[in-house]
Amino acid sequence: SDIGSQKERVVTEEEWLQKWETGNIRFHKEQGHPLLQKYLDVLLNGRSGLRIFFPLCGKAVEMKWLADMGHSVVGVEVSEQALKEFFSEHSLPYCEEPVSEISGGKMFQSTSGNISLYCCSIYDLSSSIVGKFDGVWDRGALVAVNPCDRQRYASLMINLMEKNSSYLLVTVSYDPNKHKGPPFYVPESEIKSLFG
Ligand code: SAH
Repeated sequence: SDIGSQKERVVTEEEWLQKWETGNIRFHKEQGHPLLQKYLDVLLNGRSGLRIFFPLCGKAVEMKWLADMGHSVVGVEVSEQALKEFFSEHSLPYCEEPVSEISGGKMFQSTSGNISLYCCSIYDLSSSIVGKFDGVWDRGALVAVNPCDRQRYASLMINLMEKNSSYLLVTVSYDPNKHKGPPFYVPESEIKSLFG
């Protein structure tokens, strides 16, 4: 395989939480991602008032952008710290409630109601809990998922998509023998086989 030794690599939830605790979050882009701006029209496709999903959301500022444009944003993230930082850094009041379907799961929702962030593993979600989405912004998500979980991740994402939804995916291209990831290198052939 051209992904070399990355295939076996596993990053645990504990390790992710630790990255947040120690501020080892170079993946976070304070200015937001230029590719979302560039391809916003593809994501929206002329539609308004969409439900947009942010898998493995961290504290991505793009959630605020899209909410400010009138869309409704749902994210999922294992780190509660990340979610709290998101709301506080944007001075957004929020409330917190347990998610009855998910043991230990919590949902943080902006008081205005248009940003709902689930604190749990993405694998705890299903369309019966979060509904389906018109659009997905996948940056630092597929490439952050452990290589052994990619199939499961992709099936779930497909399940969460409404019929005419659009999916923007950002990947990274580099020699996987030179860096252990994440972000992992996901070859284009694999993306095709995962998503069709
Ligand atoms: N998409 C964000 C964050 C990318 S880093 C951005 O663009 O900035 C990947 C994030 O996924 C980390 O914040 C990590 O805590 C979270 N994460 C890792 N595994 C997860 C899982 N199984 N379920 C939910 N979140 C997870």
